[in-house]
Amino acid sequence: MSTPNRKKRKSRKKQKQILHFLLLTALFFCLLLGILLILRHSSAPETRTVQEFVVETETIPETESETIPETESETVPETTEEETLPPGMVSGITLSFYHVHLHEDDDPVMPRVFMQPEDAIDISEIWSSSDETVAIVDENGTITPENPGNCTICVTSAMNPAVSAAVMVTVYSKEEALPVPEQICSPFSEEDNTRNDIQVIGGITYVQGVMLVNKTYSLPADYHPDGLTPETSEAFSALRHAASDEAGLRLFSESDFRSYRTQVYLYESYCNRDGKEAADRFSARPGHSEHQTGMVIDVNWAGDAFNDTEEAVWLEKNCWRFGFIVRFPREKEAFTGYKYESWHIRYVGEDWAKKIYDSGLCLEEYFHVSSRYS
Ligand SMILES: [Zn+2]
Repeated sequence: MSTPNRKKRKSRKKQKQILHFLLLTALFFCLLLGILLILRHSSAPETRTVQEFVVETETIPETESETIPETESETVPETTEEETLPPGMVSGITLSFYHVHLHEDDDPVMPRVFMQPEDAIDISEIWSSSDETVAIVDENGTITPENPGNCTICVTSAMNPAVSAAVMVTVYSKEEALPVPEQICSPFSEEDNTRNDIQVIGGITYVQGVMLVNKTYSLPADYHPDGLTPETSEAFSALRHAASDEAGLRLFSESDFRSYRTQVYLYESYCNRDGKEAADRFSARPGHSEHQTGMVIDVNWAGDAFNDTEEAVWLEKNCWRFGFIVRFPREKEAFTGYKYESWHIRYVGEDWAKKIYDSGLCLEEYFHVSSRYS
């Protein structure tokens, strides 16, 4: 063999060795990356929906809670999913409706979807139908009825597949009548006190720091802030001035703080007049009235005559700017447990008021809480 040939072979051998070395190095780094990813995944906090949070430490000693001044009640530290999930990770999905009844030839419907947190990095949705012979769904969440029957339409976060929400769909034949009215029943199950975003301090319930009073959650009989809280009072004063300056409207408080004893009297008189079932749709049982919080105002006229007035329209569009929400919005009776009350506003602070207003949801929907007498 000639020398140049040997040289060639030698250099080829060398090239092969280098190639092997490079391949092995690449393989090693791939393996290392894989191991790192697995380790990271297993040590990352498990992603759960808001409803599924399991509490580790819930109980706050009663003695301690009693020393918390009432005025600070709205500033209970938030225990949110941000603490357990990486920032920007989807932690929950809220829909504008959870049940729908359709005729087989009805137009498609589409629930509004809200991913939490608002600043989630990726809010892509994945839609699926449990039975495409009953109803189909496209990638945008448009639900089209096909044939009579029941199915579930599910939306999952593409970023966090552990988070999902579902719409129960019932399709009826053309001849069948749709059930009216829809069953008045909160779609949220009774909370089991294992959620760590719900705290009970001195008998008062807070969800993410917001005092919660509805048909499920009540206030102790002796909770008595003696009028509106200073923050509520101040915010309402600013709201009234704005209504006057910006729109020339006169808003005033028709009724605000109500004590437990007053509510006993009111509720009993409504029950005697209209019966218990009817009274429960517009009046709260003692302890379950938000008016006892000192953070609620009935504006101008507490009755259906106030609905759609210029004042009611302005209030609905603007009260969030001052930290209020219209607590019992239109078509939310299934969630709130109360018929539409355009006049009843609740102070929740400016941050929450803006978030809740922007979401288009009522408080119960926003926080995934029930409102149902046990
Ligand atoms: Zn009211």
